[in-house]
Amino acid sequence: MGKQYDYIISGAGCAGLSLLMRMISSGKFSDKKILLIDQSEKKVNDRTWCFWEKEPGFFDGLVYHQWKNLWFHSKKDSRLLNIDPYSYKMIRGIDFYDYCFDRIRQQKNIDLIFGKVEAIKSDAGETFLLMDGEKIRANYIFNSIRFQQPTLQKKDFLLLQHFKGWVIEASGNVFSSTDATLMDFRVSQEYGMGFFYVLPFSSSKALVEFTLFSEKLLPAAVYDQELENYLNRFYQTIIYSKQEEEFGIIPMTNYQFPSKQNNIIHIGMAGGQTKPSSGYTFQFIQKQSEALVRSMVANGVPQCQAAKKRFHFYDSVLLNVISTGKISGENIFANMFSKNKPTDIFKFLDNESHWLQDIGIIQSLPTKPFLQAALQQIF
Ligand SMILES: Cc1cc2nc3c(=O)[nH]c(=O)nc-3n(C[C@H](O)[C@H](O)[C@H](O)COP(=O)(O)OP(=O)(O)OC[C@H]3O[C@@H](n4cnc5c(N)ncnc54)[C@H](O)[C@@H]3O)c2cc1C
Repeated sequence: MGKQYDYIISGAGCAGLSLLMRMISSGKFSDKKILLIDQSEKKVNDRTWCFWEKEPGFFDGLVYHQWKNLWFHSKKDSRLLNIDPYSYKMIRGIDFYDYCFDRIRQQKNIDLIFGKVEAIKSDAGETFLLMDGEKIRANYIFNSIRFQQPTLQKKDFLLLQHFKGWVIEASGNVFSSTDATLMDFRVSQEYGMGFFYVLPFSSSKALVEFTLFSEKLLPAAVYDQELENYLNRFYQTIIYSKQEEEFGIIPMTNYQFPSKQNNIIHIGMAGGQTKPSSGYTFQFIQKQSEALVRSMVANGVPQCQAAKKRFHFYDSVLLNVISTGKISGENIFANMFSKNKPTDIFKFLDNESHWLQDIGIIQSLPTKPFLQAALQQIF
């Protein structure tokens, strides 16, 4: 018969762990047999998550640093935005993994396996995953493993958000620990839409990151060169040592990922929780996990409503505009940040704004390229 579980969490990254931690905290699943599987033991600080939030969130105890003021720089304009009542928060991957695994290891009803999932399947008869050729069955599988690349249709776009960051320790006081830089466009746009962000943890320590939205990755040395150039240009007297590095790629696409297939529920990036036009994913994962657990507790069935269709349309239009180079990313975001309150922008980017508020944001963007892109996406 082989192994059988109530729930399998396939992938112990942000989405798998966020869901499982909520299941544990609810206290409603302690009589259920749960299996968590990942090919990695998650012992490396492989990413940092940044996101904005008003209230203390479910993982607030893990927040490493938070900021109330955000700089936005374009070549024409620099502004320091107070984002109250939001805070811009950062959680380090390793703190998140350590905290979750500590708690999970204390649960008698949860098995943990480190290994490669070969496939998952669900049909009328059974729901299972394959590992080392062995079938492991469950009533439900929550899957965050991306087994395939999206197959793009005519109006789908796929851009890579690729970034390299350094955590640096400077020899003097060069940063303000209350003010982060969200986007700095005062840099070359020759490789695609490029900007920097700077997240200071103290007056001398910060994560400085070079980010690009483009179709292709760059040779590794170019990211380092750009980071070095940026620090020398905007922090002229800086002497620093590198303490950590981060490199990442986030696919940004309006391809619609299937959210489920029979009793397989796709979560996280694999379940389309990445905002196509920004790459932000962390908070969408939190909302998805919260909704899934709420519905399982209420009626035993994991359900989560998809985002309203109009937000997918806005994302498609923005991706169209950036991918086809109708207008520069700098121009788009400079207009957005100079003509709207940051709180309205955050609501819009969170897919939580009212359509009347959307009109305000849309009106602040250059009409012609957006109208052209909108018509292309419709017809
Ligand atoms: C470096 C980096 C920085 C990011 N920063 C931000 C940010 O600041 N803000 C934000 O909102 N989003 C950010 N993101 C995007 C997104 O939040 C993260 O990618 C997030 O980790 C996605 O969660 P997930 O669970 O979908 O995927 P993951 O966290 O990648 O989890 C998937 C898991 O599946 C496992 N796995 C994969 N294949 C197999 C297999 N065949 N068998 C077994 N296990 C497998 C992996 O080891 C991994 O643990 C960032 C992404 C990266 C890469």
